[in-house]
Amino acid sequence: MPLPVVAIVGRANVGKSTLFNRLIGERLSIVEDVPGVTRDRIYAKAEWNGVSFHLIDTGGIEMDEEDEMGNLIRIQAQLAIDEADAIIFLVDGRTGLSVQDEYVAEFLRRSKKPVVLGVNKLDHVSHHAASYEFYQLGFGDPIPLSAEHGTGTGDLLDAVVDVLPKEEDEPVDDEAIRVAFIGRPNVGKSSLVNRLLGEERVMVSDTAGTTRDAIDTPLVHDGQKFVLVDTAGVRRRGKVYENIEKYSVLRALRAIERTDVAFIVLDAERGIAEQDKRVAGYALDAGCAIAFLVNKWDAIEKDDKTAHRFEEEIRSHFPFMRWAPVLFVSALTGQRVTRALDLARDIAEQHAMRVQTSALNRVLADAQISVSPPSSKGRKLKLYYATQASVRPPTFIIFVNDQELSHFSYERYLENQLREAFGFQGTPIRIRMRTRG
Ligand code: GDP
Ligand code: GDP
Repeated sequence: MPLPVVAIVGRANVGKSTLFNRLIGERLSIVEDVPGVTRDRIYAKAEWNGVSFHLIDTGGIEMDEEDEMGNLIRIQAQLAIDEADAIIFLVDGRTGLSVQDEYVAEFLRRSKKPVVLGVNKLDHVSHHAASYEFYQLGFGDPIPLSAEHGTGTGDLLDAVVDVLPKEEDEPVDDEAIRVAFIGRPNVGKSSLVNRLLGEERVMVSDTAGTTRDAIDTPLVHDGQKFVLVDTAGVRRRGKVYENIEKYSVLRALRAIERTDVAFIVLDAERGIAEQDKRVAGYALDAGCAIAFLVNKWDAIEKDDKTAHRFEEEIRSHFPFMRWAPVLFVSALTGQRVTRALDLARDIAEQHAMRVQTSALNRVLADAQISVSPPSSKGRKLKLYYATQASVRPPTFIIFVNDQELSHFSYERYLENQLREAFGFQGTPIRIRMRTRG
C-alpha cells in the first residue's frame, strides 16, 4: 500500500520550506538516513496521530533559470496536482492575500484534490484575525499558524489527516513481480520498457482502469507474470516535467513504493551522476530488490575490460549496494534485455527469502566468535538470539544485552556474514538490535 503524499504548495516566500523543516524537526520522523547516499530534503516520510504519509516541499524544487515566477508557480502546482493526495496551500498572513495566491488557488481548484489552507507568519494569537480574508479563496477554514514558532501546526496536521484518502484495497496480483525502471531523464527507461513490451506477450489487464494508476503494464515472460510500474508516465506526459531533475526523483519515489524490484538504469555513454545516487538512495530506503541496468551498451567503444571497469565504477559510487547485480543492456539492439526479466525474478526471490532460525543463529554465533562485538566503557555487546521478522526486504531482529552498544560497522559486518551464508543477492537486508527486556 503506497503512502499518501501531501504537498506543500504556495508562492515564493510564504514559508513552505520553513514549515517543511518545522514539521519534520518537531513532530515527524524522517526516513532513516543511509550514510554515503546523497539526498535532498524535498520529501520526508511523516506520521501524525498514527497516520503515515510523505510530505513534499515543492518549494525545494529548482526550476531552469529562464523560468520566471509565474512559470514556477504553475509547475509547482501542477506537480502537486499530479503527485499529491492532499495539498497544504500555504499563504502569508502578514502580507495578506495576493494575486499570486489567487493564481495558485485556481490551479488547486482544478486539481479537485483536497486542500488545507494554512495562513503562515501569524506569530501571535493577536494576529490570527488576519487569516479571515483568506476565506474568499474558497478552501474552507483558513488555519492560522506560525511555521517559525511552531504554533498552529498541530491543527494543520489534524486537518490534513482528516482529508487524506482512507486506505483503499487496490487489487493486487500476488503472483506478478512488480518491476520499476528508475533513473534520471534520458538514460533509456522508456526505451527499455518499450523494447520489452515489443518482445514479450503483453497481457490485457482485467483490472485496467480500476487501480489508481492505470499505467502499470502487465506482461508474461517465461511463464512468470510481471508488472512494469509507472514507466508509461514518461510517455503520457512527455519530457516537460521529466526534465526537471528533481521531479523525476519524485516519479521514481512513487514507482518505488509499489514495486518489488527497482532497476536503476544508468547511461553507459554519460556515466554515473549525482542524480543516479539520489534515485538509488530512494530505492534503498524503500527496501525493494535492486539491480543496475547499464543501458546504451551498444553506443560505447569496448574492449575485454570495459564491463569490469564500469562495474568497478558502480561499486565505488554505490558502496552500500555492492550486493546489487549489474547487467549491461541495450534498448536499441535488444542485447540482454529479456535477461533483465530473469534477473528481476531471481532478485525478487532473494527479496522474499526466509531463512531457518537455527541456521541464522549458527551464522551469528560463528560471526561473534570470529570478530568480537564492540564494547563501550567496559561493557561488551552480546548477541543472544536472532529471528527473521519479515521479508521484502529480509529483516532480522537480534536480541542483545544492550542495543546502545551496537555499532554501525558491526552491523555491516553481520550483514556481510549473512550474505555470505545465505546469498541475498540483489536485496537489501535490515538488521535491528533489540535490548532483551
Ligand atoms: P518558501 O519560499 O515558501 O519556501 O519560504 P521560506 O520557508 O524560505 O520562508 C521565507 C521567509 O519567511 C523566510 O525569511 C522565513 O524566515 C520567513 N518565515 C517563514 N515562516 C515564518 C513565520 O511563521 N513567521 C515569520 N515571522 N516569518 C516566517
Ligand atoms: P528515458 O528518459 O530514461 O525514458 O529515456 P528514453 O527511453 O526516452 O531514451 C533517451 C534517448 O536515448 C533516446 O534518444 C533514445 O533513442 C536513446 N536510447 C535509449 N536506449 C538506447 C540504447 O540502448 N542505445 C542507444 N544508442 N541509445 C538509446
